[in-house]
This record gives sequence, structure tokens and C-alpha cells, in this order.
Amino acid sequence: MIDIKIERTTAPKVKPDPDKLGFGNYFTDHMFLMNYTEGQGWHDARIVPYQNFSLDPASMVFHYAQEIFEGLKAYRTPDGHVQLFRPQKNIQRMNRTNDRMCIPRVDEEDVLTALKTLVEVDKDWVPSKEGTSLYIRPFIFATDAHLGVHVAKTYIFCIILSPVGSYYAAGINPVKIFVETEYVRAVKGGTGFTKCGGNYAASLIGQKKAEELGYAQVLWLDGIEHKYIDEVGAMNVFFVIDGEVITPTLEAGSILPGVTRMSCIELLQSWGYKVTERRLAIAEVIEAAKSGRLNEAFGTGTAAVISPIGELNDNGDKMIVNNGEIGPISQKLYDNLTGIQWGRIPDDKGWTVRVD
Ligand SMILES: *Cc1c(COP(=O)(O)O)cnc(C)c1O
Repeated sequence: MIDIKIERTTAPKVKPDPDKLGFGNYFTDHMFLMNYTEGQGWHDARIVPYQNFSLDPASMVFHYAQEIFEGLKAYRTPDGHVQLFRPQKNIQRMNRTNDRMCIPRVDEEDVLTALKTLVEVDKDWVPSKEGTSLYIRPFIFATDAHLGVHVAKTYIFCIILSPVGSYYAAGINPVKIFVETEYVRAVKGGTGFTKCGGNYAASLIGQKKAEELGYAQVLWLDGIEHKYIDEVGAMNVFFVIDGEVITPTLEAGSILPGVTRMSCIELLQSWGYKVTERRLAIAEVIEAAKSGRLNEAFGTGTAAVISPIGELNDNGDKMIVNNGEIGPISQKLYDNLTGIQWGRIPDDKGWTVRVD
């Protein structure tokens, strides 16, 4: 059992206007910290006032990017409680990421306790306005002051919290997607299946290019043949073709196994939809769009939950999906997932974890 020392702030911050939160702009009063030292393991678990780090400029994370993170949310229920959505899945994924990045594993029970304790300490920061939540960002990075390229011997594990606004303050608007054929995000054997900062650094250029062309997100294709669909922006992606729900298989090795993706698959199956996880060529989706068989397309992720795709641009060839409107399957998934997350509908699957 983890023993967490708690040092409370003596100078609580003024909370931001719940109408103007946006994403990742504000941080709560406290943070969780824990250190790793080779030979000693993880130690000194503590909650302290939110504060800067003091790090040696030679800290390995700055040079070789040995860093990983997670992302999940705490939700305010109608009766005023605070709950998490499938946090164990994030912690398990964190350890799969750790393995790939040669970062020591964390104890899954201990990290769940840390998450719950920190959110409890800052529970007044969980906003209650429709669509708002408290974003939870756990991350680990290498701190050895050393420039030799090697696996580090010391790490910091930190969790910070950020109250975030409704993703869809102005209603769910399907987004325009640019199919990227020049840059790639990940390849099999690489780190695409992990949540590491390096993946994001490598994908910024594609996102920038798409934005310059007037598109909201990039559709990433596989890194070898530039033929099969991997993900959309930092979301997993689903296509409904002739009533069948298809999503790229995780066997590709370059796709992040999203908790939202997994939850959508489980919900769709429980409703009797045919869901297929397989390699899906962009050509097949374009062909389906042209012949009127592409019913819906959407991205999935913790931030937006469901992000409908209204237009695809494949090399200048533009296709409108479902008249640029949200489709019935996307809407049903959105209503049910957000209903469970915010505690508005019963959680038959036991996905939520109460904090208080
Ligand atoms: C985090 C992430 C997702 C979505 O995962 P969720 O667990 O559903 O939030 C999808 N793709 C990438 C690249 C990600 O980093």
C-alpha cells in the first residue's frame, strides 16, 4: 500500500470562470509526485502545492525524450459526486508504454490510489457546468543529469489536474479531415502504440500542414505503404460502411489503444452492431464514400469523446460524409458514453470509479 504524504497549499488559487476554461489552460492547487531511484524503486509519494520543477539542464528527458504520459478525466455527477472513467485501463496502458520506453513499471493499485487521492484533495476544482470536467495528466520522465545515451536510473512521476471546458460548447460540428500522404506518425516496431511525448513532437508538422490547408485534423496512414488507415489526429477512427462498423486493428502496432475506442467497440457489440477490427485501406473508404456506402465516420478519444468527420480530403479529392452532419451511430455512442461518464445514465458495465 502506498503511503502518500499530503502538504496542503496555504495560498489557494482563484478558480477560473467555468465558461472560459478551454483545454489545458488552468491547473489546480496541488500535484502528485513520486521519485524512482534504481535499487530503491518508486519512493516518496507525496501531494504538494502545484509548483515548478528544479531540474539539471543535463536531465536526460530534455535530450533523449524518455517521457511518457496518460490522459483521463474526473466528472461531476448530477448528485455532486466525482467519478473517474475506467482509470485502470489508463494505468495498464501506462505500464505498456513504460515497457516500450524502458521506464520502470508503476504499481497499478498504488497509482489508482494516487489518482483518487489527488482528485479528492482538489475535488472543488471539478467543474459542474454541462460538458466540463477535470482533466488528469499523469506523466513520467527521466531525470539523470547525463548525456550518454542510455536508459535512465532516476525518474519523476507527476500528476497534474486541469479543469477543462465542454469540447462542444457550440454543439457537435463534424470536422474536416486531411488525408496525409507525405508525413507519417508511427510505424510498426516504433512507439505508435504508446503514449509518449515523442509521438506528438513528430506529428505536429502534419497537424500544422492540415491547419494551413483549412482542415481540423490529419488522417494518418500506415508508415510503410501509406495505404492503410491508422488514426485521425490524436484519436482512434471508425468508419461505418453499409451498416458495418470498421476500425483499424491494433495489430498494426502503430495505433494507440484508446480507452474510448475500446468502450465504443464494447457498447456497439452490446447493442448488436457488427464491429470489425481489421486493416482498412484509404482506397476502400474513398470507394465507399463515392458509391454512397460510407454512412458515417468519427474519431474517438477522451477529450472530445466522439468527433464526427464531415469531410475527407484525399489528395484534393473531397468527399462529404453523411451530408456533413453527425450520424445516428456517432450520436448514440456520444449520448451513452457521456451519459455514463457524467453519471446521467446507469453504469451497467461498472466502468466508473467513485472518488468521494
Ligand atoms: C490518447 C490517444 C488516443 C485516445 O485514447 P483515449 O484513451 O480514448 O483517450 C488516440 N490516439 C492517440 C495518438 C492518443 O495519444
